[in-house]
Amino acid sequence: MTVRGAVVWILVLAGTGSVLGAAPVATNQAVPEVEALEPELEALYKDLHQHPELAFHEQRTAEALATRVKALGYEVTTGIAKTGVVAIMRNGPGPVVMLRTELDALPVEEKTGLPFASKVTTQDDSGETVPVAHACGHDLHMTSWYGTAKIMAGRRGRWHGTLMLVGQPAEEAGDGAAAMLADGLFTRFPKPNYVIGMHDEPSLPSGQVGYHAGYFRAAFDLLEVTIHGRGGHGAHPQNTVDPIVIAARSVLGLQTIVSRETDPLSPAVVTIGSIHGGTVGNIIPGEVRMLITVRSTESKVREHILASIKRQLDGEAAAAGAPEMPTIRILSSADAVYNDPALTGRLVAALQRELGPASTREMPTQMTSEDFSQYGRAGVPAVLLHIGAVSPTALASGRQLPDLHSPEWAPELEPTLRSMVKAEVVMLTDLLSAPRSGA
Ligand SMILES: [Zn+2]
Ligand SMILES: [Zn+2]
Repeated sequence: MTVRGAVVWILVLAGTGSVLGAAPVATNQAVPEVEALEPELEALYKDLHQHPELAFHEQRTAEALATRVKALGYEVTTGIAKTGVVAIMRNGPGPVVMLRTELDALPVEEKTGLPFASKVTTQDDSGETVPVAHACGHDLHMTSWYGTAKIMAGRRGRWHGTLMLVGQPAEEAGDGAAAMLADGLFTRFPKPNYVIGMHDEPSLPSGQVGYHAGYFRAAFDLLEVTIHGRGGHGAHPQNTVDPIVIAARSVLGLQTIVSRETDPLSPAVVTIGSIHGGTVGNIIPGEVRMLITVRSTESKVREHILASIKRQLDGEAAAAGAPEMPTIRILSSADAVYNDPALTGRLVAALQRELGPASTREMPTQMTSEDFSQYGRAGVPAVLLHIGAVSPTALASGRQLPDLHSPEWAPELEPTLRSMVKAEVVMLTDLLSAPRSGA
């Protein structure tokens, strides 16, 4: 659909083991190779953690990964979408399976108190000096990606097909996956049959894999709205069209889109996060500017919400006799992450078989967004999983714990890292093992 001519179009707690309290992670001997790797992985994690880089500036990070996987025998290509990395291992006939990690960090000042905390500052794209930290755990994901690369290279006799390891820039900016696809990720390299990704998760105990078949992460749209009026003296309202009053009515009207127009069983959010207009009390301003965040999962709901916002804003402006209809610009967007149900089922079955039934837990849909969605939209069955990263004791305490993107966020390194490597190796080995019917 379109808004002001702009073309827009573009996760049930039913766990199998205890969540809180007892450690949920299986202590069996699946993927025993990880034990010997732990010192190397810990050193890599600390190195990446101390050298965070912002979106599309991940040169050192990409180089650190590229150099290591090249040494393992992967065919490595760098510089895809500026800083992206593709590492391929061809190992006979069979499916092509892609594992994605993100490369980027956030403009956040780290306050974890860790001995290896980031002290990095850099200039962002607007020239402003900002602190940088891995406050979303992408350093953990990269370290696991490398550990998985090493174990898969070492067990080539146990799988066949093509393993495609992708280091993606700029997940936090929302456009890294799209930039890699535009730079030929699925045309210059083999198009995968399956794509998987994992992300650390503050609501699950360290090492437990969270999954959700179907819509797992929301689509988002950030809208900038300008409501046009006719300014004038605050004592002569009859000579003006007051955009503040139009905005006030609009803010209340927009609340009814989710509460009155949207199926309660399809999650959606409309948040007006910013509203600005006017300077002093005795002047009626010419316009009011608002910033609106829209979250949804199903595309028909997303289209309806965007259309309703326009309809309601136009309606209020018309009712007030505004000189022109409000201007609506979409500043940024992301599509919903849809986890292929058949592939999700296959991966969870493999994890439970190899790591034990308590190694996984079903999760609810989350209203945050992830550009991992782009791989599924490119026509490949894709699944984004989460890995619990908080000690069961801390979770059981009932305390408010740091969330992702917080200055205090730090995953509990072990057993999270070891479990993440095991989960990735188990899933990749399953997908790259003897031919099976279906996904
Ligand atoms: Zn993040
Ligand atoms: Zn993240």
